Amino acid sequence: MRLILVASPQFDIENLSQFFDEEHTSWRLSSTATQAENLIEFAGRICYMSFGQNQSSKPNSEYIRHLIEMGHESVLEHATWTFLLAGVSRAFTHQLVRHRVGFSFSQLSQQYHDETQTEFIEPTGLSHYPRAREIWKSTVENTRIAYQNILAILDEASDAKDSLLNPRELRRAIRSAARSVLPNATETKIVVTANARGIRHFLKVRGTIPGDLEMRQVAAALLSEVGKQAPSLFADFRIEQLGDGPIIRHSPTNV
Ligand SMILES: Cc1cc2nc3c(=O)[nH]c(=O)nc-3n(C[C@H](O)[C@H](O)[C@H](O)COP(=O)(O)OP(=O)(O)OC[C@H]3O[C@@H](n4cnc5c(N)ncnc54)[C@H](O)[C@@H]3O)c2cc1C
Repeated sequence: MRLILVASPQFDIENLSQFFDEEHTSWRLSSTATQAENLIEFAGRICYMSFGQNQSSKPNSEYIRHLIEMGHESVLEHATWTFLLAGVSRAFTHQLVRHRVGFSFSQLSQQYHDETQTEFIEPTGLSHYPRAREIWKSTVENTRIAYQNILAILDEASDAKDSLLNPRELRRAIRSAARSVLPNATETKIVVTANARGIRHFLKVRGTIPGDLEMRQVAAALLSEVGKQAPSLFADFRIEQLGDGPIIRHSPTNV
């Protein structure tokens, strides 16, 4: 599994200087806050215009902690990250894309992409059970052969007769038929953009399930990345190690 961060929040404080001048106020930024954290603090402060004399001495980390404690989490939606996930199974991404709120997805298409050379993502724990692993390996390889054979037969048949479909749609139809035999383990790639509120929800409901190792691995990789980018937004989450891999622990009191 690979999780590669490809975009993260940038906060342009310079662009706000005219705004603060016009409002006859100013904002004291915390020296250690990251771009994402400044962005969230700024959005929160706009709600109450708590700048200048109205700004308390709370540092950014406490300000964000307070937002989360109060449940004012819509402010967290302004910080978004984009990452590439590769080497994950279609079973995993089927679960991931159920997250409708605060997430955007662009996934490798099995209709436009030939899956002949696809890899299959082996469930990690299987290596302890050689017989089960053998069955798994031969089964996924058989699906590859079935995929190739179905493609070849339908290709040949379509050459032989006039199709109602144009070549592009014909290819889509043929690959659609062939892909139907590919298993949940089929490798996929997906670009995900998610905001901090959505990521927090995902970590809580998905990263904490002991029996779902692939999900836990992705959740931990995600938390590692966004935790570096905005520690205050994820201070109530931590990664622990179980025997087989990482798991997310959530402690609301540690916000
Ligand atoms: C342990 C576990 C087992 C699961 N088992 C199954 C299963 O057997 N079958 C299955 O189909 N799915 C299953 N799921 C998936 C689950 O039902 C959700 O689809 C998935 O976790 C996304 O969560 P969500 O809807 O909270 O996230 P999002 O879609 O991102 O929504 C985030 C939050 O927004 C609010 N929200 C979103 N949409 C609405 C809406 N239409 N109306 C009101 N509020 C809304 C809710 O507060 C929601 O929690 C399981 C999930 C878990 C964690």
